[in-house]
Amino acid sequence: MSRIHEETIEAILIGKQKTLGNIKYLTLYSEKIGLFEACLKNSSNLKNHFQGKLENLTKAEFTIFQGRTHRHIKQIQNAKTDHLDNLTKEKQNFIATICQIIQKVSPKEQTILGLQDILETTRKNLPLVAKPELLFIYTLVQIIYRIGIMFDPKFCQNCQQELSEKSFLNDNQLICPNCQKHGSTQFIVDTSTRKTIFYGISTDFQTFSQIKIPEQTQTQTIHTLKNILENYLQTTLRVFLNYGHR
Ligand SMILES: [Zn+2]
Repeated sequence: MSRIHEETIEAILIGKQKTLGNIKYLTLYSEKIGLFEACLKNSSNLKNHFQGKLENLTKAEFTIFQGRTHRHIKQIQNAKTDHLDNLTKEKQNFIATICQIIQKVSPKEQTILGLQDILETTRKNLPLVAKPELLFIYTLVQIIYRIGIMFDPKFCQNCQQELSEKSFLNDNQLICPNCQKHGSTQFIVDTSTRKTIFYGISTDFQTFSQIKIPEQTQTQTIHTLKNILENYLQTTLRVFLNYGHR
């Protein structure tokens, strides 16, 4: 018979679900596999190797073998939590929102270039920032961009002219006022929101966090990002209701 294929991979915890007995299903993201699920039995063997709580966004080395129906986790080592267990309610809510969005928008078992880096940037910075809004915007912009559903924030999708004033979201693409059909009610994206998204795509978080973004623009940007995700998923995202609406 064939040998059990076992491998140790670095992955980030995106979600966990408890089922009957002591079995947990973990949703993980790994640069090697993409988003995947693996079964975790609460064995004492595992406890010897992993102390502490498994919080979402924890990075660790998971030893995984492929069973007949699904993957199993044999061991968890070298977990990096960066004090995730000690966050405010608002920041815990932030992680829950981000992880739910990834579970909804990320294709299964498909690598998304740079996604793991972004999640690590978020995990490392979240305990450090005083107010999490800018990090939330940055993380969301990067996720949407890397998954491939972000509009071009500089040019009209229809006439290719550079956008200069307010623009309109049409099928998740931006169009200029000249190309916008009269009478249609489309979502308006103002210039400061467009610029915020542009910087979110093209800078690192260190640079992005130093940009002065008025609170109103932050709220508008979060609203726009929610709109992009909802258009893409063709559904309302309830997870956002707890966040970004003040
Ligand atoms: Zn145009």
